[in-house]
Amino acid sequence: MCNDEVRVRFAPSPTGPFHIGGARSALFNYLLARKTGGKLILRIEDTDRERSTPESEENIKAALKWLGMDWDEGVDVGGPNGPYHQMERLDIYKKYTDKLLAEGKAYYCYCTDEELEEERQSLIKEGKMPRYMGKCRHLTEEQIAQFKAEGRKPTVRFRVPADQQILVRDMVRGDVVFDSNNIGDFVIVKSDGIPTYNYAVVIDDALMHITHVIRAEEHLSNTPRQCLVYDALGFKQPTFGHISLILGKDHTKMSKRHGATSVDQYRQLGYLPEAINNFLALLGWAPNSEQEIFSMDELIHEFSMDRVAKNPAVFDIDKLNWINQHYMRQLDAEAFFEAAKPHMIAAGYMTGKEEGEKLAWLKRVVATAQEHISYAAQIP
Ligand code: GLU
Repeated sequence: MCNDEVRVRFAPSPTGPFHIGGARSALFNYLLARKTGGKLILRIEDTDRERSTPESEENIKAALKWLGMDWDEGVDVGGPNGPYHQMERLDIYKKYTDKLLAEGKAYYCYCTDEELEEERQSLIKEGKMPRYMGKCRHLTEEQIAQFKAEGRKPTVRFRVPADQQILVRDMVRGDVVFDSNNIGDFVIVKSDGIPTYNYAVVIDDALMHITHVIRAEEHLSNTPRQCLVYDALGFKQPTFGHISLILGKDHTKMSKRHGATSVDQYRQLGYLPEAINNFLALLGWAPNSEQEIFSMDELIHEFSMDRVAKNPAVFDIDKLNWINQHYMRQLDAEAFFEAAKPHMIAAGYMTGKEEGEKLAWLKRVVATAQEHISYAAQIP
């Protein structure tokens, strides 16, 4: 690995349908990797045992492949920094946890959920920001023995240093400063021994030599915690880039109310991967010109992080339809018919077994739609 190589990652949690916001994060990472001749790593963050499923992971990988994004290292393809499923890395995290505990940078917390909730409620009542106030920071041997005798299973908490200004240097948002006094000692390992996101993500990004962490804006507020972990473990921080939220046309956070939100739904409606990529790239990134139609190669050529906007991106379905229509019109007759086929079959207009005169007639009928539709499900 050469020292100035750009190494980015896409690190989805396989907990449900693959959201278009996730696809956009993947795309920005992919474009940066391909533009710079760097590497894209696909890591699966599967520590949420209740919500992670193998089907969701398969669905994410299939969607990335459908969109034409390949990865250089990670699940399925392997690489020198694996394993690439977090659940296969528990012994790695444990090594670092032991170190933090030994150095007093982390400690065991025996508080029960009820006690934590009580603390939360009383802080809220006092008009304070709810956070862990450090009850288990200085337990005596006797207290620990007592908790153990009660059968309490501890979590491990990170000891947040007081009075620190935590600076997050963000490629998109500029310098953002957080006050460590607003961050309670946070859990890094749950009582079942599984690490939390803010902890595992740091160890993985550091050990996988990630140089740029490009992800959704919602993780900006997690970043100061992650910076503290980087520093405590003596790891060099990567460059961060938090890309804006995707809003619906009414400027509220994009959700099911706004229509289809998963890549799969768009695929099933007959949108083309070229159009999805083109559209997603323009959700937050602006080219240097008026050009709106970009092939993947053009995107790779044009993309740069300094043209990624700070303000929220608005998901405009009319624009996606316009872009998709452009790509639908470019299809040759055979490809257009193939795109139409599953929708024609589903609508009962054909069986898929037609041949000869009947097939030729169907093709002629379908072809009349090519100039007029935005996506294949409209063809019937
Ligand atoms: N697993 C996290 C998510 O899907 C990853 C966030 C990150 O990229 O750090 O939101």
